[in-house]
Amino acid sequence: MRNGERNLKIIKIIGAGLAGSEAALQLADNDWQVELYEMRPQVQTPAHHTADFAELVCSNSLKSKLITTASGLLKAEMKILGCKLLPIAEECCVPAGNALAIDRKLFSRKVTKLIENHPNIKVHREEVTELNYELTIVATGPLTSENLTQSLIEIIGNEQLYFFDAIAPIVSAESLDRNIIYEKTRYDKGEADYLNCPFSKDKYLQFAEALNEAEKHEAKEFESKFFSKIDFHFYENCIPIEELAKRGKDTLRYGVMRPVGLEDPKTGERPYAVIQLRTENKDKTSYNLVGCQTMLKYGEQKRIFRMVPGLEKAEFLRFGSIHRNTYLNAPHILNEKLSLKNKPNIYIAGQLSGVEGYVESILSGLLVSRIINKMLRFEQFRDFRSFQNFGSLLPETTISGQLWRYLITENKNFQPMKANFGLLPPLEEKIKDKRLKKEKLAERALRDIGKVLE
Ligand SMILES: Cc1cc2nc3c(=O)[nH]c(=O)nc-3n(C[C@H](O)[C@H](O)[C@H](O)COP(=O)(O)OP(=O)(O)OC[C@H]3O[C@@H](n4cnc5c(N)ncnc54)[C@H](O)[C@@H]3O)c2cc1C
Repeated sequence: MRNGERNLKIIKIIGAGLAGSEAALQLADNDWQVELYEMRPQVQTPAHHTADFAELVCSNSLKSKLITTASGLLKAEMKILGCKLLPIAEECCVPAGNALAIDRKLFSRKVTKLIENHPNIKVHREEVTELNYELTIVATGPLTSENLTQSLIEIIGNEQLYFFDAIAPIVSAESLDRNIIYEKTRYDKGEADYLNCPFSKDKYLQFAEALNEAEKHEAKEFESKFFSKIDFHFYENCIPIEELAKRGKDTLRYGVMRPVGLEDPKTGERPYAVIQLRTENKDKTSYNLVGCQTMLKYGEQKRIFRMVPGLEKAEFLRFGSIHRNTYLNAPHILNEKLSLKNKPNIYIAGQLSGVEGYVESILSGLLVSRIINKMLRFEQFRDFRSFQNFGSLLPETTISGQLWRYLITENKNFQPMKANFGLLPPLEEKIKDKRLKKEKLAERALRDIGKVLE
């Protein structure tokens, strides 16, 4: 509170999941008045089980604590930024080696109590079905209720909202075998943005057979119901590669793996089939396996995609997945403050904004609330120190800064993003040793994020 007066500015937050809870606590601790809306338990999502806030819907792990992993580094950055949920998670940790695994019930209970007892937060247990002009953070997650989804569509348009996560694996550039893989765009049209992994007939048949026999994640009951409601022909781009492989031994090489126009420049010959890799970032440190969205178990993905010529030693920065996931085409519709371009009072946080994962969703709540806090301080108190160029909000050498930039940078193939080292610009010095390189990247990130706070 400033000069003994209460801040009258009210911020409405919809959804008390991971992002919404973090944002509520951040803003309330900065003395803003928060009206937090959560539809559970009146309306349940297909994945939540309790009425508590910040529920972890699936695994109980917030991943590695080591700063030489992307998730570990992100958590370290978030702690420096004053994250509210991570210290609570640490209080609720259970033994899991280097991972931050938590007692999920205890964690959600603690977050719920803290929020319910906070003098600056008023909790409303009701579904929000419409968006209006109030200052609002929409943090309703990948399972946003249908009514609210409809209201969002009215504002941003149908084509800006996606319902599926059809994610292909991402591999690190340095793990690719460039003696085998070559650069070429089909028929040499445009810049050589693609890398190509060439298959001989034998290698192709082995790969297609392995896909056919691989172990899949079983779709949860609600997921299969949802999938069956949607006409899959409409979502042809979403079909997992292992399902395509089942349609016949040539389906892949006439479809996603077709080699036409992709002759190997070293031999001048056309391979039997090709998997193309598309760069994920401007520094070309990570590549997406085009058309390889998959529901295979992670171990199986590693085994089978390492059969691709040139990927024998691939380092997987992200595995593929397919599940229901409502998310926005963020680069098209969000401005740099992470609010809607055509309704700037409406901010989007959490998985709905296009980040992916528990920790990333908490980060997003933290980011959006920091942005709003700065804006309000400037507006209400003419506090010029808090008004910054948003570009300097978080350095581009940090995972948190790069996730934010990812959401607002033009991208024709926008898909939800997890923390990974491929997001970071390369170090000035070339370091071969992978572990040492990650240590140096982490050192740089933590040093730079510390500077911003100074
Ligand atoms: C089935 C499934 C499994 C997942 N498993 C993992 C995993 O193991 N590890 C991982 O890192 N990530 C996982 N994720 C991805 C993601 O990290 C989580 O979904 C994460 O909880 C997203 O955080 P959030 O705050 O954006 O949304 P949520 O945590 O889902 O919070 C959104 C909240 O909004 C509420 N809500 C929705 N609509 C309304 C409305 N109209 N009015 C009021 N309240 C509303 C919901 O009840 C919910 O409490 C999974 C996602 C799904 C769908």
